[in-house]
Amino acid sequence: MKIEKQSFSNSLKASLSTKEKTIKDLPGVGAATAEKLEASGYNDMLSIAVGSPGELVETAGVSEAVARKMIQSAREALDMGFESGEELLKRRAKVERIETGSKAFNTLIGGGFETSAITEVFGQYGSGKTQIAHMLAVRAQLPKEKGGCGGAVVYIDTEGTFRPERIIQIAQGLKLDSNKVLKNIKVARAYNSDHQMLLTERVDDLIKKKGVNVRLVIIDSLTAHFRAEFIGRGTLAERQQKLNRHMHVLTKLADMHNLAVYVTNQVMAKPDQFFGDPTEAIGGHIVAHNSVFRIYLRKGKKGSRVAKLIDSPSLPDGECGFFVTETGLKDLKE
Ligand code: ADP
Ligand code: MG
Repeated sequence: MKIEKQSFSNSLKASLSTKEKTIKDLPGVGAATAEKLEASGYNDMLSIAVGSPGELVETAGVSEAVARKMIQSAREALDMGFESGEELLKRRAKVERIETGSKAFNTLIGGGFETSAITEVFGQYGSGKTQIAHMLAVRAQLPKEKGGCGGAVVYIDTEGTFRPERIIQIAQGLKLDSNKVLKNIKVARAYNSDHQMLLTERVDDLIKKKGVNVRLVIIDSLTAHFRAEFIGRGTLAERQQKLNRHMHVLTKLADMHNLAVYVTNQVMAKPDQFFGDPTEAIGGHIVAHNSVFRIYLRKGKKGSRVAKLIDSPSLPDGECGFFVTETGLKDLKE
């Protein structure tokens, strides 16, 4: 016991006094723990610093007290804490935007789908959520000067609705090499919520270990498996907890790699509401709270679609119409 305590505080000191940035310098992290952590994607100080004690307990098998100490010293080693407004502004300057093909839609969301943020689009079946996913998977690959962010895309398909043919049509509409575009989309079919979460956690490996320049992660649909697997009120809390963990992983991905995250969400009828919009997004406040941009999508007149921006931190609420076409999104008047 004594020896353990001794080495514990020594390694704590070591991790604080040197600027060495390896997780092995953290208190309570020996070779075996480090291996477990690395296997789960905790391979640098930042990943530990932004982790939660619960996640570390689960992945590394350490006690909660040790997990808390690990996080604390990773934060200290990284000199985390407050950032000045100026530093934040600099970080915001790195944010890139993926344009939509519709000027009205771009304006609604401040220029395009932002990197370093989760954008949630919710709406009924057939409202166009999957079409937007396909459009983004192509347009994210455009260079910055053409309204993309020049990189690869991860597409986690939970409903089996990804269609390479649609990618080809949209890519050809933009005069891109459709084979190249397809190659740059890493598609994975998620068969249940655990699988979906595992795939999401693997994105970090794809970036760090395989060197893939992922600029956009799509999860279509974010909530379908969760909804199907947790039926009944008894398991609702458990579902929300799991969904919350999933959203945290996505937030971390977006933040750490300055990439865009696009998730889709269905709506359900709200039985106790008689006035206004009779629909509500699945996942409730958990998904809403973790999404920086929330867009409600519905069918409009003459086959158009209407997107409504809700609760943005920096943009006015508003809505716009557009068309979904063979080659992507188009303005109502073009
Ligand atoms: P959601 O994912 O919200 O359930 P989708 O994104 O699958 O809905 O939208 C399906 C709709 O998209 C179709 O009903 C159709 O109106 C439109 N759509 C699908 N493919 C095309 C296409 N090639 N050209 C034009 N519109 C299309
Ligand atoms: Mg869909």
